[in-house]
Amino acid sequence: MGVKLAKKHRIKKQHVGIMLVPTSQCDTGCSHCIDDSGCKNPIHFTEKFAKLIVSQARKEKFELSVLLTGGGEPLMTPEFLKIADVFGNYKKLLTFGIITSGFTENEFQRKSQLETLLKRPYAEKLIVEQSFNLYHQTFPERLANMTQLMMRLGKTDFYVRMCTSATNFYQTHRKLEEVLQEIAKKIKGRAFQLPIEDTSLEDEPLDFIRENVSERLTVEAFFSPQWHILQTKKEVFAIIANSFFLTREGRASKLKEDSLDYCVCDSLKTFSDYDVSLFIAPDGTVYPECPCFPDKRMQLGKIGEDSLVEIVRRKQIFNQRIFQEILADRRMSQWATRETCKLCRQLVAEKGISLGL
Ligand code: SF4
Ligand code: SF4
Repeated sequence: MGVKLAKKHRIKKQHVGIMLVPTSQCDTGCSHCIDDSGCKNPIHFTEKFAKLIVSQARKEKFELSVLLTGGGEPLMTPEFLKIADVFGNYKKLLTFGIITSGFTENEFQRKSQLETLLKRPYAEKLIVEQSFNLYHQTFPERLANMTQLMMRLGKTDFYVRMCTSATNFYQTHRKLEEVLQEIAKKIKGRAFQLPIEDTSLEDEPLDFIRENVSERLTVEAFFSPQWHILQTKKEVFAIIANSFFLTREGRASKLKEDSLDYCVCDSLKTFSDYDVSLFIAPDGTVYPECPCFPDKRMQLGKIGEDSLVEIVRRKQIFNQRIFQEILADRRMSQWATRETCKLCRQLVAEKGISLGL
């Protein structure tokens, strides 16, 4: 990929979304783990990599959004807080989030890293998302612990990502409700669900329900977020639960339940040069999207070896080309399924990650 082309694709304002897997390590052992995460030979992202990204972003005046996610469990990353501080203190940071499986009472490292993170000044804008499912028995405890920690620290809300199949969809929701009812008893408050999908929390949730319930009750869909409220005399706390469908990959390939293999690739839907997103693995390798990982052919570059600017240019070129290439290819794919990924990889194998440009 030539320098000239990179210059041609240079634009004035740039937002880079980073989905970062800070570690491959996780000791939970869920049966539905698509990443097969465990504790053998863990690879960890480092503060040094984070500093490299941020110093290059600063020089280029890039806006950043960063999501720390699995792979492994982010809170098990040895340099987790140092990495979070590097991104969290970046002036042009637009959004900052973490997806975590949370902690049990015995998981001291995770608990202390999370609590310290939540007390950082930049945590005001931190979006916390916790995974929840019935594929490992500790998730009810993890949810209860997260809810109580967030409430104790004076936070107002967090998100829950529920991995379900068609078979256990309702049981998963009922279990989440049970956990919240138990917390409500403990805090002498009440737990209830708002029958709405996308509203912001009002000061008076009950008034909101009275005004909206009749016309909204029918709008319950599988993927609609469910709003759960914990209310005491003094406070209202919201837990927004999103469902997503089980994918049978990694350890989950042994499960018998219904799954849904679909492709939600950013590269196929990003048509703006302003927005570019990158998936970064624990060893610093960069991919267009998470389903590309760990296919070496799909690598856009590596932090520490390639500049962020060059990686961003490669991603822009990839975004511009891959959609056209897939549509133009005679082998055509079944749109938005993993067949799309298969074809995309074949095209990259034939033409390289620059797709012939
Ligand atoms: S699904 Fe998440 S919590 Fe469970 S083993 Fe995999 S990385 Fe760990
Ligand atoms: S293989 Fe291609 S289509 Fe699939 S996630 Fe990666 S970039 Fe997207």
